[in-house]
Amino acid sequence: MAREFETKVLHGDKIEGREIASKVTPIYQTSAFTFKDLDELEGFYEGNGRYLYSRVGNPNTDELGAAVARLEGAPAGVAASSGLSAILAGVLAVVKSGEHIIAADDLYGGSFHMLKEELKDFGIETTFVSFTDLSLVEKEVRANTRLIYTESITNPLLRVEDLEAVIHFAKKHGLLTLVDNTFATPLHVRPYELGAELVVHSATKYIGGHSDVTSGVVVGREDLIARASGKIVNLGSNLSPFEAWLTVRGLKTLALRMKAQSSNARKLALALKENADVEKVYHPFEHGGEDGFGAIVTVELTEKADINDFFRALSWIKIAPTLAGVETTVSHPEVTSHRALSPEARAALGINRQVVRISVGIEHASDIIIQFEAAIRASVGK
Ligand SMILES: *Cc1c(COP(=O)(O)O)cnc(C)c1O
Repeated sequence: MAREFETKVLHGDKIEGREIASKVTPIYQTSAFTFKDLDELEGFYEGNGRYLYSRVGNPNTDELGAAVARLEGAPAGVAASSGLSAILAGVLAVVKSGEHIIAADDLYGGSFHMLKEELKDFGIETTFVSFTDLSLVEKEVRANTRLIYTESITNPLLRVEDLEAVIHFAKKHGLLTLVDNTFATPLHVRPYELGAELVVHSATKYIGGHSDVTSGVVVGREDLIARASGKIVNLGSNLSPFEAWLTVRGLKTLALRMKAQSSNARKLALALKENADVEKVYHPFEHGGEDGFGAIVTVELTEKADINDFFRALSWIKIAPTLAGVETTVSHPEVTSHRALSPEARAALGINRQVVRISVGIEHASDIIIQFEAAIRASVGK
C-alpha cells in the first residue's frame, strides 16, 4: 500500500483494459507493459498474446495492421510510422545488400527517392523502367533481382497497372511483387488476392482519410510480414498508439468515403472533359463503371489559363501537398511532388505548369463542379 503522497501520486488502483469491454478500443498510450512475475514474462516470449514494449508491439498498432490485412484479404499486416516506413519494411523483408529491385518509373516521388538514393547507399540497386511494356521490364531482370515494385494506380496521371500481368511476369521469373495500393484502396483493388506477396499503404491517405495522421501499413504473406515487423522493431519505425488509434477510427468509414469520393471524382472528370479550357483530363474512366474508380482527377489546363489565377479563384478548395482527405484539395505536381525531377523528366511524364492534381472529397458533386468551372473561367479571364 502506498502511504506517502509521493508514492500515492503514482500507485493506485489501475483500471485494466480487456475485461471492461469498452465499445471502442482504448488508446494504449504506454511505452511498456508490466508483469507480475517471471512466469508471466516468460509467457510473453512463448507467445501468450501479451505485450512487452510498444516499439515491439502495441494493441492499437496491431489492430490497424490486422484491419488492413483483413480488407486486403491477406493473412497478416503490420503498421509503421508512415507510408515510407511501411514501404521500407516491406522492401527490406525481401531484399538485402547486393540484391536488385525493378520498379515502375512512375512511382510516388518519396518512394522513388528512397530506392534511388537511400537504399542505393545500402547496396540495394533499383532499375526504374516503364511497366507499360513488360518486354522492357524483362530486359532488366538480373540473377540478383528479387523484387518487382509497382503501384496499382499511379500519381498523378492515374495509370492503372495491369497487376495480373505484372504478378504473372514476376512469378515466371521467381520474383516477389510489392504493390503500393494507396491510391486504389482495397475497395477497388486487392493486389494480394491477385497474387502479390506484399501490399503497402500510406495510411496517411485514404486508410486514415481525414488528413490528421501520418501512418503506414504493410500486409501480405505471413513470413514476409514477420520479417517486415522485425525491420520496424529494429529500425524503430513503429507507429505511435495514438496515431494507430486515429487511423483505425478513420478506416471505419473507408467504404462510405471512398464510394462517395470516387463517384464525385468521376462526375467531376466527366464535367471537365466537356470544358473547352481543359486540355487533358486524366481519370481511369474505363474502370469501375458508373461508381468511379479512385478519387483523384488530374487536369491539364490550356496554355491560355493563368494557373495562379486558377488557384486563387478556388475558394473553399485549398492547395495541399497531400491527397485523400474528406475535403477536396488541389496540388501542383510541378512545384511539389515532382519538384526534384528535371524539366525533361517531368515533360516525359506529362507534367508541366498547367497540370493540377485534384483530390476529390465528400462534398456535394455539384458544388465541386461549379467551383472548378468558375476557377477555370477566371484563369482564362472570362
Ligand atoms: C503519400 C504516399 C506515400 C508515402 O506515404 P507517407 O505516409 O507520406 O510516408 C507512398 N506512396 C504513395 C502512393 C503515396 O501517395
